[in-house]
Amino acid sequence: MSSSGFSEWIEDDLQKLRNAGLFRSRRTFKPLPDGRCLQEGRELVNLSSNDYLNLAHDPRLISAAVSALEETGVGARASALVSGRTEWHAQLEQRLADFEGTDTAILFPSGYAANLGVVSALAGEGDTIFCDRLNHASLVDGCRLAGAAFRVYRHDRLDKLKRELEKKTGDGKTIIVTDSIFSMDGTWAPLVDLCELAEQYHAILVVDEAHGTGVWGPSGRGLAEELNVESRVTIRIGTLSKALGAMGGFVSGSDSLIEWLWNRVRTQIYSTALPPAICAAACESLEIINAEPQRRQQLHAQADFLRQELAARSLLADTTSAGPIIPVILEAPERTMAIAADLQAAGFLAGSIRPPTVPQGTSRLRISVTSAHQREDLERFLKALDHSLARYGQSR
Ligand SMILES: *Cc1c(COP(=O)(O)O)cnc(C)c1O
Repeated sequence: MSSSGFSEWIEDDLQKLRNAGLFRSRRTFKPLPDGRCLQEGRELVNLSSNDYLNLAHDPRLISAAVSALEETGVGARASALVSGRTEWHAQLEQRLADFEGTDTAILFPSGYAANLGVVSALAGEGDTIFCDRLNHASLVDGCRLAGAAFRVYRHDRLDKLKRELEKKTGDGKTIIVTDSIFSMDGTWAPLVDLCELAEQYHAILVVDEAHGTGVWGPSGRGLAEELNVESRVTIRIGTLSKALGAMGGFVSGSDSLIEWLWNRVRTQIYSTALPPAICAAACESLEIINAEPQRRQQLHAQADFLRQELAARSLLADTTSAGPIIPVILEAPERTMAIAADLQAAGFLAGSIRPPTVPQGTSRLRISVTSAHQREDLERFLKALDHSLARYGQSR
């Protein structure tokens, strides 16, 4: 392809995205404390962040990070195994292990890198991976990269998954991969049933707790703790980037599992270690999560309120789940964008999610509440939403 041919191809592809209402444009935000942000000079209530416990701006995290920054500088300078792993990394690994009740833990540059690396290291030729259709892109990409047979299942049709597991022959490994909470739907994976299937068919069960850590369970360890199945999940992956208000991914587990991951996961081996200051901040987050369970209670109280109000308007897609991620399905991408723009004019930032992030015809507002949001914020948001829906029509 000539260079002018290449430019034409790029322009064509951009035009296709624009025509389909799927073009993504970038903006700049200035985060503010307490669930707010500035955008083009305007203060907005931010209903599209994953800072569930309002920790990203917490003065204790900031001061922990600043001390570590002054002590060790900004970047880690090398991958962890070469020379990048500092005392701060070691301390965070230990604190994560204490928090999760396991022997030890391993850190990754991001949750994406953890999922991609762990799933692709676990499976190879001759193995079979079963991947939920709603799983996060990082798990899907890990499945693709693995080189194993790759089957997509629906968790509302576990009878089908069971039949597939029954049919499987040969002595390759069987791996079931799932998010604990589906990131664009806010719904729960049926972890108890998945544990039963995994045990019955000798499958490895990998659970991504990206939206579970800090949010669910009596100690905030995630949905597996909430449902009392932690010991039955083979590998639990978490992120430090969401409720913990920092950055990075992790797996906590037995000494042998973690040794194996250190030796086999390429996104760990071939990427620079997390900045030490980030590790210092994440240590502080864990401390706060342990000491201040009321943050989780506030979060759930606000989420329950918003869910009830949306259900009363028949806008709640799934009434069986709970928690801070709440989608309002608007179907067409153009309408979703128009309503999100209306809400922004009224002072609220809500995520507008379109294909390919979600299936065709299910474009949605993705609302996420945090413990910083007040009842009054949510009441004003609902008014603005009612107003905009009256203008653009409600499709379901
Ligand atoms: C955000 C997210 C990730 C990626 O985590 P990062 O730390 O942001 O890279 C992985 N899985 C799920 C389900 C997520 O929502």
